[in-house]
Amino acid sequence: VSETKSLGEFERIATFFAPLAAPEALGLTDDAAVMAPTPGFEIVLTTDTMIGGVHFFPDDPPDLIARKLLRVNLSDLAAMGARPRGYLLASAWTRDTGDAWIARFAEGLAADQKLFGAPLFGGDTAATDGPIALTITAIGEVEAGKALRRSAAQVGDEVWVSGTIGDAVLGLRVRKGEALGIVDASATGLLARHQLPTPRLALGRALVGRARAAIDVSDGLAADLGHICEASGVGAEIMADRVPLSPAARAALGAGKTDVAELVAGGDDYELCFTLPAGATPPDTAAAGIACTKIGRIVAGAGVRLLGTGGREIALRRTGFRHF
Ligand SMILES: [Mg+2]
Repeated sequence: VSETKSLGEFERIATFFAPLAAPEALGLTDDAAVMAPTPGFEIVLTTDTMIGGVHFFPDDPPDLIARKLLRVNLSDLAAMGARPRGYLLASAWTRDTGDAWIARFAEGLAADQKLFGAPLFGGDTAATDGPIALTITAIGEVEAGKALRRSAAQVGDEVWVSGTIGDAVLGLRVRKGEALGIVDASATGLLARHQLPTPRLALGRALVGRARAAIDVSDGLAADLGHICEASGVGAEIMADRVPLSPAARAALGAGKTDVAELVAGGDDYELCFTLPAGATPPDTAAAGIACTKIGRIVAGAGVRLLGTGGREIALRRTGFRHF
């Protein structure tokens, strides 16, 4: 905790953040939170930082910034098969960040922590000359020994992905003002995928004891599947025509404004990519909250190959795109 708290900071905590606090946070008046794990479960911890001008535009709506920050952390819990318990927030506001901005930021947190069952456990605030830096540490839990891992894929496994791929990278292009040759409603939908991803928590829970390896798609489908391959000591093939695309992405593709290589390289989709033993079926859509699509298979070797019609290899773009 900072030694130089102003009264203003205490007032901000009391006004905006105390209403978000979980019982474990002890009213945000102690030095730390106290949490009891559920018997038979292990604690799962993850953290993610978003910096103004790097991970969000300084004029993005503060509530959407808050919600995305919480959601990207919850997505990491989903990838591990964990259910959320709560989160910690460390924020470095610029000196000109007004109370109105922080009030809207807290409103975003309030909405999503209720939606996902992850209340505030505590945090810290500091002032900076800029840019704004916001860190959430999410705390979850999973049945002991059952966490989904990147390292468990086996040759012969089939590769699955939830939802649709590439919407967020196209949404970022919409945010930058690019025309994608699609109707406004489609562009708005893509922008929403970029600004407000959905952590696949129900799917992650349904994959516990069922999936071999799993990861969330934050760096791009090809890069993240590559992380599974590296950790598991295997390779993977993706069939380009099986990659699930939204109607909006399909329209942009049809208009010649994108290609499959961009869509599988784009980040921020926050879908889950996972492997199942050959012939196994994924959790049904009702239980998982989202449809899943089989897109390829795990093979001997290393790295990810994208295959087009007739097995022709499509060159992958430099992957791991994350920032702008
Ligand atoms: Mg991740």
